[in-house]
Amino acid sequence: ENEVFQKIISHCKEYGFVFQSSEIYDGLQAVYDYGQNGSALRNNLQQAWWLAMTRLNDNIVGIDAAIFMHPTTWQASGHIEGFNDPMIDNKDSQKRYRADQIIEARAEQYEKEGDKEKGQALVDKMNDFLKKEDLEGVYNLIVEENIVCEISGTANWTEVRQFNLMFSTQIGSVDNESSQVYLRPETAQGIFVNYLNVQKTSRLQPPFGIAQVGKAFRNEIVARQFIMRMREFTQMEMQFFIKPGTQQEWFAKWKENRHQWHLAIGTPAEKLRFHVHDKLAHYADAAEDIEFNYPIGWKEMEGIHSRTDFDLKQHEEYSKKKLRFHDAQAKENYVPYVIETSIGLDRLFLSVMSNAYQETESTNEKGNVEKRIFLSFPAPLAPTKVAVFPLTKKDGLPDKAKEILKDLSLDLETFYEESASIGKRYARQDVVGTPFCVTVDHDTLENNTVTLRYRDTMEQIRIPISELKAKLLHECSM
Ligand code: ATP
Repeated sequence: ENEVFQKIISHCKEYGFVFQSSEIYDGLQAVYDYGQNGSALRNNLQQAWWLAMTRLNDNIVGIDAAIFMHPTTWQASGHIEGFNDPMIDNKDSQKRYRADQIIEARAEQYEKEGDKEKGQALVDKMNDFLKKEDLEGVYNLIVEENIVCEISGTANWTEVRQFNLMFSTQIGSVDNESSQVYLRPETAQGIFVNYLNVQKTSRLQPPFGIAQVGKAFRNEIVARQFIMRMREFTQMEMQFFIKPGTQQEWFAKWKENRHQWHLAIGTPAEKLRFHVHDKLAHYADAAEDIEFNYPIGWKEMEGIHSRTDFDLKQHEEYSKKKLRFHDAQAKENYVPYVIETSIGLDRLFLSVMSNAYQETESTNEKGNVEKRIFLSFPAPLAPTKVAVFPLTKKDGLPDKAKEILKDLSLDLETFYEESASIGKRYARQDVVGTPFCVTVDHDTLENNTVTLRYRDTMEQIRIPISELKAKLLHECSM
């Protein structure tokens, strides 16, 4: 994992964005906690998504389904049978790998060496085997390609096995088969099983959507790369119910809509691209990812899937309940098709963090080179919007500063500090990405103006207190 990525991980820990879960007990693999700044940033991202879905679309409503669901849900959805990843162990290093990932890594290597076709042919072959559930075929590819994997330098592999990614636990006190439940591996099913409840009570008619933000759990085989691949993570999903036959049109619309949203929250266009799936999931008739160019390369951030009527039909069959829409005007009865947009909040967080992390060097008045680290979050996303500082602790400056603070904190996330030099106080806000600092000095007492300092440019302007709040609110709104 590269140097920039390591710096971002350290920064996240050092400045209260992301901590390893249960760190005092040496942590729990692939589980993370968000700190005071991280949870604020995360809430802002979640809010931006939620409002874009539910406020900007009068035909999309939000729900919040439980994490536990009736176990038959996962039979109907195909997860018990098919939510597996192919797993292989290296007998020498005792390390476990995802068979598909190490083959893909080999394909990438071919591409880097200038033989893209050879890489693609390898991936095609693998996908063929996986589709046919031919795990021996996958194993043979690994052996033929002489994939050795990092340190061990040998290729002493076990066979390839399927590993189901769902976590299970017991509900109630009776310890038998029937009380086994799963932690949901995706939030989508909570929406499908509520499709009829929501449709009837909202009186929305296709095309309409249901949005949800919630935790999902996957027992990932290999969980490295920080919050890219977690065992407990948050999904923001929207399932859009449409008339069969209109899926191509809606798929294109949602691709465009989601791309625009990423641009609107400040993601640079050149760091986004679409990736068409080589291998479609069992339920999909089209699927594309929005990939982000992370410091560790292009990775999936969001999936846009045309799920057909697969899920609702399956739930009809298993529940024996009709999950149809009756179009009174056209006198038709149909099971809606579904276009889904599904983004991991944690991967979105990591993209915003990667965009924001800046290191610059400048020469100060004494001729020394000073390194500066700051997070250039777009103001609407920043955990803290404005810090207020009295220049000194004397002459009534703190009282004046607190008066300004009190007014601002009714509408904006604020921070107050009066110790340390003003330069230090600015630097402490830079590293957590606070876009504005306001300094109260002796002139403030004379003429009711303050210094407003901009994080990215370090530019400082003098502004009347009476104009301050409106200006900040303007800068911090989406
Ligand atoms: P991958 O191929 O990277 O495992 P996926 O195709 O299985 O992802 P989906 O099932 O389409 O992912 O889930 C939708 C979104 O949920 C993904 O785009 C990603 O942002 C997020 N996501 C999935 N798995 C994880 C995970 N283990 N940790 C964090 N986010 C995840």
